[in-house]
Amino acid sequence: MDLDYQMMTELTAIELNLEELKVGYKKKYFRKDLIKAWSFKCHRCDKKVSSNEADEYFNVYVSWIEGLGTRFCSKDCSDIFYNELLNELLARRDQLIKHRELLGKFYSEAEQKFLR
Ligand SMILES: [Zn+2]
Repeated sequence: MDLDYQMMTELTAIELNLEELKVGYKKKYFRKDLIKAWSFKCHRCDKKVSSNEADEYFNVYVSWIEGLGTRFCSKDCSDIFYNELLNELLARRDQLIKHRELLGKFYSEAEQKFLR
């Protein structure tokens, strides 16, 4: 496969991942009609969050991380995780854009030499 095509394909995938991340970041409310309470540990600070104590929690769901999503005790904790993922994707996107520019420059220089 052509290198530029490969980079374009990855850029498209990153755009989709960015969209998925935005849509997958949600504030959730515990159901209060459950007989049995359930709980989880915050992915960031390890604090235990229980459905019979808290009203809400935060969830970041993206398909490239296994499971039903990554759960957090607070918006502060989930924001840190969300921003880490976001920054990773944006950094990779910038890198690919730069590489494509370099590749384009390289090709046009090679073409100039060929035409001379
Ligand atoms: Zn937390």
